[in-house]
Amino acid sequence: MAILEEPIKGVKLVKNYVNGEWVESKGEIYDVVNPANCEVIAKVPVSTAEEFDDAVQAAKEAYWDWRSTPPVSRARYLFRLKELLEENFEELSRIQTQEHGKTIDESRGETRRGIENVEVACGIPTLMMGYNLEDIATGIDCKLIRQPLGVFGIIGPYNFPFMIPLWSAPYAVATGNCVVVKPSSEVPLSQMRLAELVEEAGFPPGVWNVVNGGKAVVSSMLDHPDIAGLTFVGSTPVAKIIYEGCGKTQKRVIAQGGAKNFLVVMPDCNVQPTIASLMTSFFGNTGQRCLAGANLVIVGEDEEFYKDFVQKVVDTASKIVLGYGLDEAVQVGPLRDKGKKDNVISYIESGIQEGAKLLLDGRMVKIRGNYPDTCFLGPTIFENVSPSMKIGNEEIFGPVMSIMRAKNLNQAIEMCNASTFGNGHAIFTTSGKSAREFRYKVTSGNVGVNIGIVAPMAFFPFSGMKDSFYGVLHTQGQEAVRFFTESKVLIERWF
Ligand code: NAD
Repeated sequence: MAILEEPIKGVKLVKNYVNGEWVESKGEIYDVVNPANCEVIAKVPVSTAEEFDDAVQAAKEAYWDWRSTPPVSRARYLFRLKELLEENFEELSRIQTQEHGKTIDESRGETRRGIENVEVACGIPTLMMGYNLEDIATGIDCKLIRQPLGVFGIIGPYNFPFMIPLWSAPYAVATGNCVVVKPSSEVPLSQMRLAELVEEAGFPPGVWNVVNGGKAVVSSMLDHPDIAGLTFVGSTPVAKIIYEGCGKTQKRVIAQGGAKNFLVVMPDCNVQPTIASLMTSFFGNTGQRCLAGANLVIVGEDEEFYKDFVQKVVDTASKIVLGYGLDEAVQVGPLRDKGKKDNVISYIESGIQEGAKLLLDGRMVKIRGNYPDTCFLGPTIFENVSPSMKIGNEEIFGPVMSIMRAKNLNQAIEMCNASTFGNGHAIFTTSGKSAREFRYKVTSGNVGVNIGIVAPMAFFPFSGMKDSFYGVLHTQGQEAVRFFTESKVLIERWF
């Protein structure tokens, strides 16, 4: 069994990247453990408020030179970064697998999606243009220009360690701001490697900083008078803290939260490709995606269709190969850590207690290769789930599918819309009428038609509604450019 070579060898000490220098933190140090083989691969610090302030001061110092660098020149740094990311594509992907547990294919997809944001931000001379109109009144002209604001904080979650900070950072620096990135301390290595490539691309010191840590760094970010705004991606309870905190200190904010996605299957769906999509949606990345399927709603009263479809889903899911993500034959890796596995198991137990029927039990794991089962959990499927059960309405963030039934499409849409979340609901159908009805009425920021993971490309905003998103503008593409700039309006008359 060939396992791809691990890029992280031994135990790496994670440093902060501040003002173009690699700085050792004085904060407490924690282990980063590869969840597949349980080996310690890094030590990550919990940086102090003072260390965060050093980064903000460096960013502030760099700001005026950087914001007055022509956009076309700023873009050239991003073009260089893009080339370096391509050259190091495979290494970046394998680091994600090592620190997070996802399969190498998932990591390669994540790397590609991250790079695409750098590519889009390379178009900043065009993206940042304002607009104008002569003669808004006789002899008076008006124009709108976009200007950067200063220093932004960027906070990432653990489930996409490389890509998610890139939903924001390239646009922030392309528009002339400086950034302090705080990666999830559970998976700090991808952002450390990215910062090494930022350094190699020659960005001026202070433009792109990385400070590792947890709650203390986030609190400092919220309170810091020199932080103009921040982007956050993570769970809903923390997104609320961020949104409220930014309100108190008048910072602009994008706060992307958790999810509970409904995938609705119509009896007229194309069965084979639908099942293939459901497998990657519910079980890919071990269910640790904000766009993962959580509830599968099967529509209609045709018992034969229902039974046959569910049987096919269970049969296909039971054949999924679990193991170390650097083994290319593996389809699903471990959960990020044992605590997360225990949390998902507690949901499985609650599903059983609340009367749902367990059709496939992921607790009985079979792992390819000789790895401890500490963090592994296989695909798990329940039927007879109702939206009022814990497993039917809370975010589990693991490989658990809850099957529900709806009499008709309207009832299915009502079930989706009763959820407090609204991130990535989808419908599987061959009927254009049903698809239109669904996308028209469903309260979900990203909506899929025959797509299981409704992930917008870099040139579209990553949306979200209700408790999945707090804010107005979104990360990625043109909306990110708007978020990271102030609109200034000039009105001119010459006597
Ligand atoms: P999390 O909320 O625990 O952590 C996110 C970030 O906040 C991390 O950097 C963490 O260090 C920091 N943090 C954690 N607790 C904090 C606190 N009390 N105060 C201040 N900062 C704190 O999220 P996670 O477990 O890393 O990521 C998984 C969650 O992210 C899931 O809920 C998932 O749905 C969500 N997510 C959402 C999207 C989206 O686009 N909406 C994308 C990816 C992940």
